[in-house]
Amino acid sequence: MNTMINSTINTAQSDTIHNTKTPQITPIERRNQKLSERLIKTFQTRGFDAHYCNNSQEAIAKTLSLIPAGSSVGWGGSDTIRSTGLIKALYEADCYTLIDRDTAPDLARRTELHRQTLLSDSFLMSANAVSEDGHLVNIDGVGNRIAALSFGPKNVIVIAGINKVVKTLEDAVSRARNTAAPINAQRFNAQTPCGTNGSCANCRTSGSLCSYIHITRLSNPAGRIKIIFVGENLGY
Ligand code: SF4
Repeated sequence: MNTMINSTINTAQSDTIHNTKTPQITPIERRNQKLSERLIKTFQTRGFDAHYCNNSQEAIAKTLSLIPAGSSVGWGGSDTIRSTGLIKALYEADCYTLIDRDTAPDLARRTELHRQTLLSDSFLMSANAVSEDGHLVNIDGVGNRIAALSFGPKNVIVIAGINKVVKTLEDAVSRARNTAAPINAQRFNAQTPCGTNGSCANCRTSGSLCSYIHITRLSNPAGRIKIIFVGENLGY
């Protein structure tokens, strides 16, 4: 396995994506890099600040480099954010004010932290799906995550495993509803049809994970939303 491929890239560096230091790159890694090179260009035309990292370790380093010391930082519910070790790295950096919803002793405090997160300097999240033509798709039960994505934090960083990438916007909406939501329903033991049967039934239950289905077409202002594609399968 190659773990020493080029560090994080952006379009300006994309000519160097063809790693010359490590010739024994695997076909999967080569495909991921080529796909991400195209994704970066597409998303940059839509105002996103886009990057590619080969693995979680690089993604953590890149994320921290995008958050100025002294910033307040919040995040949305995300298996990717937690499983990569990013939250642990934020604590260990010891230079941020962290708004950690998981420290809340009860629902009222958790909701209050969600509100505070909307005014954090930086907000971290993943995406339920990314389309090759330049859209992010996210579903949300109460809307805190997509609210922060849309407006509030000055700096939004989306970390997306390569498994989140699909061809079209239509595919992305389908992935969010038919793959991400039913798996997340298991994670939260949701009392929804997808929680019970593992498949979306277009429910209207009070605990629906899909109160909001959000499409991000552009970063406005340009550069506010950063996206880091990672050449690993992360999250659901
Ligand atoms: S069953 Fe409800 S919560 Fe589950 S994916 Fe469908 S709309 Fe979302």
